[in-house]
Amino acid sequence: MNKKLIVANWKMNPQTLAEALSILDSVDEYLGSLEEQELSLVFCPPFVFTEEVGKILRTSHFLHQSELGTQDVSADDNSAMTGEVSGPMLRELGVRYVIVGHSERRWKLGESDEIVNKKLKAALRNEMIPIVCVGERVRDDNFKDFLKEQTLNTFAGLSSDEVARCLIAYEPVWAISTTPGARPDTPQNALESTSLIRKALITNYQLPITNKFLYGGSITSTNAREFLKNEGFDGVLVGGSSVNKEEFVKILSQI
Ligand code: PEP
Repeated sequence: MNKKLIVANWKMNPQTLAEALSILDSVDEYLGSLEEQELSLVFCPPFVFTEEVGKILRTSHFLHQSELGTQDVSADDNSAMTGEVSGPMLRELGVRYVIVGHSERRWKLGESDEIVNKKLKAALRNEMIPIVCVGERVRDDNFKDFLKEQTLNTFAGLSSDEVARCLIAYEPVWAISTTPGARPDTPQNALESTSLIRKALITNYQLPITNKFLYGGSITSTNAREFLKNEGFDGVLVGGSSVNKEEFVKILSQI
């Protein structure tokens, strides 16, 4: 059986490097208490902590079960783009995973499907594994059509080999903890959505889709187990709870 993957999206947290290192200390201690390596971890810190976090992940109990990720990448590899961070820069820091299409970037920062698609191509061009987030804003009567369209726009122009290199995270926006009134989805409903996403890709590429699927949205130590023990999910993407070290370790212990 494949190990479950837990992706920690720290968003714009914590505020200091000392706090970031303290979260990693707690996780390291927990990993050291396990008899065997039961899980895979990806840490996606804010850009400013990427280098330091990367150094820690190459040591101690993190070694061989953790990878470095980021929350964004520039669509361009080499151009005058104030404030952006390019794929080649990230590669040089040892980044292996990049979140693209996170709902906070899509809906709060105005990233269109077209921009997300360019960033996805940038991640692939630079040989990183994209964690592609898709999810409806509201679960209304049109949500299935919305999901299909967002999926096809996000993956537009990719070859089937490129699609196969992506991790897909189903993250309904209404379930993200920062959305007012957020509540987690149920595994059953989320599986219906991942099957819609898979079907949209199969129809488009006429090939079996064997990608790994994650669920994200208000994961806590209370609901992590139901997703992690469900064969339909290869892991979870954890936002807010991943910067609360006690809570995050509790989530890891649900595997
Ligand atoms: C996320 O940031 O991808 C996420 C799922 O956030 P949260 O766990 O806080 O809902």
